[in-house]
Amino acid sequence: MACTAETLAAALRAAAAVIAGHRAELIELDRAIGDADHGENMDRGFTAIVSALDTAIPETPAAVVKLAATTLISKVGGAAGPLYGTAFLRASGKLGDAAEVDGPLLVEALRAALEGVQARGKAVGGDATMVDALIPAVSAAEEASGSGIAAILSAAADAADKGAESTVDLVPRKGRASYLGERAKGHMDPGARSTALLLRAFAEAAK
Ligand code: ADP
Ligand code: MG
Ligand code: MG
Repeated sequence: MACTAETLAAALRAAAAVIAGHRAELIELDRAIGDADHGENMDRGFTAIVSALDTAIPETPAAVVKLAATTLISKVGGAAGPLYGTAFLRASGKLGDAAEVDGPLLVEALRAALEGVQARGKAVGGDATMVDALIPAVSAAEEASGSGIAAILSAAADAADKGAESTVDLVPRKGRASYLGERAKGHMDPGARSTALLLRAFAEAAK
């Protein structure tokens, strides 16, 4: 499927539905090692994105992604809002004025999103954050960059699932969960899980 402003808006709507469907799960993950609001934060943010898209769909893919970014930054407090907001903002910056996003451009945008999260939150791989889902996702996307959008995103989503799973055995070193130290071991990081859910939603929407 071509990746245009319209199809991107549809993918964000699909992502909002997935986040709403996993709201309780994300709350429970965050209850174990944080403050039990990640599902609420993500649901509020993506519901607001859907409302913004209901008003008008911006003209370019970059503008759609930027609308998602500014909505997340303004509507979601805590750690995840600004981090995801930065991810979408950096991705939007890569898309320029393209009317359609192709595989290589998508991969560049994903790389920029990861770099944005790391610039903002200073987490590296192994810190048990969303970065542990994003790093393998971007690597997998880069390896698949010669394929179509759907194949790139589904490779990224598969890698993000594994990355999120890997956080179970890690001791968190960033964010609220780091206050628990060793006691946080045995729990999946909620932000890594939401990253994997978002990438899967985008992959499904791209089919
Ligand atoms: P808060 O922790 O402020 O309540 P959320 O619960 O919405 O915010 O989001 C928590 C998630 O944010 C964590 O599971 C983790 O993935 C991510 N996170 C927190 N701090 C950082 C950071 N410095 N870098 C990357 N991700 C982070
Ligand atoms: Mg929280
Ligand atoms: Mg919070």
